Amino acid sequence: MQIKFWGVRGSIPTPGPDTVVYGGNTTCIEVRAGDTNIILDCGTGIRELGNHYSRLGKAVKVHIFLSHSHWDHIQGFPFFMPIYRYGNEIHIYGPAHPDRTIRDLLTLQMDGAYFPARYFELAAKIHHHDLREESVDIEDVTVHSRFMNHPIYTLGYRIHHEGKVLVYTSDNEPYSAFLYDHLKDFGDAIPASEMEEFLAQCNRRLVDFVSDADVVIADAMYRTEEYPRYRGWGHSSAEHAMELAIKAKAKKLVIWHHDPNRTDADLEAMVRDTQAIAWSRGSKLEVVAAKEKETLEI
Ligand SMILES: [Zn+2]
Ligand SMILES: [Zn+2]
Repeated sequence: MQIKFWGVRGSIPTPGPDTVVYGGNTTCIEVRAGDTNIILDCGTGIRELGNHYSRLGKAVKVHIFLSHSHWDHIQGFPFFMPIYRYGNEIHIYGPAHPDRTIRDLLTLQMDGAYFPARYFELAAKIHHHDLREESVDIEDVTVHSRFMNHPIYTLGYRIHHEGKVLVYTSDNEPYSAFLYDHLKDFGDAIPASEMEEFLAQCNRRLVDFVSDADVVIADAMYRTEEYPRYRGWGHSSAEHAMELAIKAKAKKLVIWHHDPNRTDADLEAMVRDTQAIAWSRGSKLEVVAAKEKETLEI
């Protein structure tokens, strides 16, 4: 499996001298597994991936798995040139909302008020697949989906190919007592002990989902000391991502969804510190930060 990062930033693109090393485009990861082309999320990084496909000069067949519909995960889609070419075949998978399909969510973004080309004008053959927690087989690749802890319906993906496993948690926060505090506001009468067990079960489910991954690409938006200010926003700290990877016995952790204010120097320090903590716990986990245009092979 080859994994190439085309966009690594969360929230908003961040061009400029402080982000030239790790990159400023929002979320987009290309996964090549045998003859199957998969794209994880459609942030602004997908524009250059589309240009790369165009230069190859062949019909494009690709499977796009969207984690959720926040802007930083879909805003590059209208600039993905293969959607405007006849003969291309594009499958889009993602979590539907109770009142909106994945097609609805993408159509809204290309309403004439926001973008000049409209969704119904796209020339490629586009197939939509609304997902819940399930498994999808594409030739010799299997993709499992699982809900993450984020303010809207969000799926993480576990990809299997030829004995190798890649897990992408997308935007995710550990389940915590914050959820319990929130439910109490609604007068919910769940006893604290039951809620604690429920939250522990939710966290164990996530560890199971990541278990024995060769690579896990995980939300690491914050430093540990920053996290308390953003508790409940649906993102993790680098240390949370490391703890998840260690518990799941993953081999390599790619910290990802970089905060827009995080400079290249900040990211280098974040990797160094997170790696040192992992080693100090006796773990052999390798920690790196996602870097635009870099390719990993597993
Ligand atoms: Zn995001
Ligand atoms: Zn999000």
